Amino acid sequence: MRLPKFEHFEPKTLETALSMLSEKGEGAYVMAGGTDIVVKMTHGRLKPNTIIGLQRIEGLNEIRFSAKEGLTIGATARLAQVASHPDILKHYPAFAYAAQVMANVQVRNMGTVAGNLCNAAPSAENAPPLMAMKAEVTVVGLKGERRIPLDQFFIGPGLTVMEHGEIMISIFVPSPEPKSGASYKRISARCGVDIAAVCAGAMVVLDGKVCKEARIVLGAVAPVPMRAIKAEGLITGQEWTHELIEKAAAQAAEESKPISDVRANADYRKKMVAVLTLRALEEAHERAMER
Ligand SMILES: Cc1cc2nc3c(=O)[nH]c(=O)nc-3n(C[C@H](O)[C@H](O)[C@H](O)COP(=O)(O)OP(=O)(O)OC[C@H]3O[C@@H](n4cnc5c(N)ncnc54)[C@H](O)[C@@H]3O)c2cc1C
Repeated sequence: MRLPKFEHFEPKTLETALSMLSEKGEGAYVMAGGTDIVVKMTHGRLKPNTIIGLQRIEGLNEIRFSAKEGLTIGATARLAQVASHPDILKHYPAFAYAAQVMANVQVRNMGTVAGNLCNAAPSAENAPPLMAMKAEVTVVGLKGERRIPLDQFFIGPGLTVMEHGEIMISIFVPSPEPKSGASYKRISARCGVDIAAVCAGAMVVLDGKVCKEARIVLGAVAPVPMRAIKAEGLITGQEWTHELIEKAAAQAAEESKPISDVRANADYRKKMVAVLTLRALEEAHERAMER
């Protein structure tokens, strides 16, 4: 299918990108790696009059980590960069894993974490591990900058709290607490390339045998990536036992609201939520014990 006609700009500064976005109006879209937006344009689902590429903006692709400041990922950092970054592999293995297993090598070499989040698919694979680890995103517009906790970012399939004219510039993930661990699990009909049919992220913080804090985030089983709040509540403040984790996993399945589609039917998805949540909690717990 042919792409519709559009103007294409590659500004070198964020200020120019923001002015262009405002000047060109509702039909203007920014593009990072293009692996979502170009597919939508090719299938005629999106007809922008203007595309503003972000890749030439200097410094926007940086990844910075320090134990004190945490992790900051620039909006044009590629998924492949995240998947192989030594600090991310060491301190945020659940996030590195999500970036390693999604899509294929070509897509990971083009696509970005920011694009994955801004595209706001219910199945966006970076969302569960990042939400579990309390990530926040920074967006900037002509009126200024704001920081948004990722668990308040998504409002519907393809919809976020960002306004037209705003650009996400970075994603921040706090430094992992002592005795904390995180995990990400996914399932798809075919391994690789295929979008996840169900995915789950978990983060736990231990105080001796007690789970001081738990976060469970589910993907592809609701209109937005969702926290399983009741399941989190079952574990928080309790001694860690396999029976309790099984109950929490079953509760997470109860809280999920999947639909049936080409990737899986709703019943199967609910069952898989329990399986993946259990596995994610167990791995997060193991990692917390090691720290
Ligand atoms: C073959 C294939 C397989 C895939 N497999 C997976 C998979 O397994 N799991 C998965 O989660 N996804 C998958 N995807 C989807 C896609 O690759 C990812 O969502 C990717 O991370 C998108 O990043 P991008 O930089 O290419 O986004 P783009 O296509 O550039 O942008 C996506 C959307 O976000 C907006 N946007 C991008 N950056 C910004 C910004 N900084 N500020 C504001 N808005 C912005 C754009 O305007 C657009 O609406 C796949 C895609 C393909 C083609």
